[in-house]
Amino acid sequence: MTPQKNVSNASALDEMHSVHIVIAGGGLSGLSAALTAAENGLKAVLLEKMPFVGGAGLFPEGSLGIGTRYQKDNGIHTTVDQVFSKVMEFHHWRCNAQVIRALLNESGQMIDWLAGLGMTIKNIRTMFPPEKSLHVWHIFEGGGVRLVKVMSQHIKDHDLPVLTKTPVKKLLINDEGAVTGITALKADGTKVTVHAKAVVIATGGFASNKKMLRKYVPDINAPGMAKLMYRGPARDGRTGDGINMAQRANAALAGMGTLAGNSPYLDDEPAIRQFSGPDHMKQMRCALSQPFLWVNRQGERFYNESFGSVFSDVYNAMTSNGGLMWSIFDRNMKKYMEDNGPLTPFNAIVVPGQKMTALDRGIEKGIWSGFAFKADTIEELADKIQIKPEKLRDTIETINRYAEQKHDPDFNRRPEHLIKFDTRNGPYYALRGLRAFFLTLGGIVVNKDMQALDAAGNVIPGLYATGQDMGGLYDSTYDLLAEGSASSFALCSGRIAVRNIVKIVSRQS
Ligand SMILES: Cc1cc2nc3c(=O)[nH]c(=O)nc-3n(C[C@H](O)[C@H](O)[C@H](O)COP(=O)(O)OP(=O)(O)OC[C@H]3O[C@@H](n4cnc5c(N)ncnc54)[C@H](O)[C@@H]3O)c2cc1C
Repeated sequence: MTPQKNVSNASALDEMHSVHIVIAGGGLSGLSAALTAAENGLKAVLLEKMPFVGGAGLFPEGSLGIGTRYQKDNGIHTTVDQVFSKVMEFHHWRCNAQVIRALLNESGQMIDWLAGLGMTIKNIRTMFPPEKSLHVWHIFEGGGVRLVKVMSQHIKDHDLPVLTKTPVKKLLINDEGAVTGITALKADGTKVTVHAKAVVIATGGFASNKKMLRKYVPDINAPGMAKLMYRGPARDGRTGDGINMAQRANAALAGMGTLAGNSPYLDDEPAIRQFSGPDHMKQMRCALSQPFLWVNRQGERFYNESFGSVFSDVYNAMTSNGGLMWSIFDRNMKKYMEDNGPLTPFNAIVVPGQKMTALDRGIEKGIWSGFAFKADTIEELADKIQIKPEKLRDTIETINRYAEQKHDPDFNRRPEHLIKFDTRNGPYYALRGLRAFFLTLGGIVVNKDMQALDAAGNVIPGLYATGQDMGGLYDSTYDLLAEGSASSFALCSGRIAVRNIVKIVSRQS
């Protein structure tokens, strides 16, 4: 694509392009759209705001797929019907059923496509007991980083232009309300205008736009709620640009208040260091979620600690408890983690059997920064974390009784996770955990071809939305049983949108 420079009414620096498709955003859905366009012989250009492509797509461990070659080879027979029923039950049908079905239908071919591009499927992982799992989460060798690299290389091989450091600023809208292109701005001040048959909005939602979060997400504003942690990239372009631009083209929005919430993160920023940073931070984050004892601000249990990895449930339970929790353990429990690793895994990051030998370093850092506390007695620890001492002792003694009877009549913690505290000999530890989220799930209303719709349900010609810019696919919470749906929906929506554009373009020519 050779840009035309200095055309009429443009400054000497301006660039003008004319293509079939312009893609705003170079994360998972944008890269998937760009590669599908290239494979179909369409002229396309991808514009990315940051100096690098990938967006949040650099982080996933894996994606949902149904009916993949990998599943067939490994005797997994999950069907789209089964997953669709579970998803709809989870969201009580308060979601866009047609679009969800289209994305699930696409997911198997999408994973096979990635495998064909050179991605290796390491395994199928699950956060659930095998009998409850749908076995759909395909874990990629090298994770999101490799996925982004592989797709980018294929895009390059097809000579499809990718302009980084070039944020899309505006949609071009004609008198009939159709979207006919975009304008963008390069870092050197060059204004880029792209005329196109179709614009694909793939800017990743608004996780990093504090003003939009305050406006749309009711949880954040609730009285008495502790700070919400953000487990996203340290350098993040996801500021809601695509959603805001689409609104100016009359697009309707749905599900704007819904976040993909997480299990707790230590009160230490940036939280992403606990996910992909130094060992002592990853191990401390893992220690935070161990099923020894979790209490709320009042020193009372509030959740079944055995299910700490079911992160959307934990997020919700914390939301009902002021957004803050304390994870308590004694020296024997700490030693267990150091010698044997965790009882429950922290994703694939710290897993049972992996000795947590960096805990001392993490606790030292935590005491210094204020997310870890250590004391010789239970009462002294309670004082430090501002819980009534008699309440904390009572909660610990209750858990000790449950441990003796190997039964938790309050929240059904698993018997093997009911471990007695030594109430006489310290030290004791407390880690401060806050709610965290990693994605916004609300955005532009689309149909099953990913075409943006207005409030009356009419297609806005020329406008498509993908990935985290689509709204209405989740009710109040991320659906964890459909494991890997976020990245899968992003990758699938890019492909579906472009296939529809191919049809429209070929009808027109
Ligand atoms: C820590 C972490 C772990 C995750 N793990 C998983 C997992 O295991 N499984 C799973 O399914 N999902 C996971 N996800 C979610 C997954 O990464 C997202 O669902 C996916 O990346 C969304 O794709 P997208 O294209 O919508 O947005 P992104 O991939 O975030 O890409 C959006 C891109 O648009 C760019 N952009 C923004 N505004 C503009 C503009 N005006 N002009 C040009 N470009 C712009 C951004 O800079 C960014 O590069 C994880 C996310 C995070 C943060």
